[in-house]
Amino acid sequence: MEKLKDLGNLCIDCKEDTSFGSGKFVNRIPADDGEVSGFMCADCQMVECDSCEQKVYEYATSEQGAWYCIDKCYKPETLVDIKTKFRDAQGMFESLLETYPDDEEIDLFSRKLNELFELMEGEND
Ligand SMILES: [Zn+2]
Ligand SMILES: [Zn+2]
Repeated sequence: MEKLKDLGNLCIDCKEDTSFGSGKFVNRIPADDGEVSGFMCADCQMVECDSCEQKVYEYATSEQGAWYCIDKCYKPETLVDIKTKFRDAQGMFESLLETYPDDEEIDLFSRKLNELFELMEGEND
């Protein structure tokens, strides 16, 4: 493997100085692109949001590989996933209750699940 060319304090993208006092020190991150190593300044870490097309520093990548700004456009897909799982579980408990209408444990779990579900739904408002 070839040794990376060390750019020191330079940003590997815009090649500007990121050392302390340069104005680009804050939020720089160590970076390499396979040929050179150095840092990447905050400006060069910014990406364009695929939804609102703003240049943003804080973004998240969707499962489809799109970039969304954290501030406005990104909806955590894990939360969506959890909600789907809750709905599935809810459905399971409902069919269990139909089969065992007098089972207290199933009834209790089902009611707790519904409470949690309502809490989660409420957070969207
Ligand atoms: Zn840069
Ligand atoms: Zn956005």
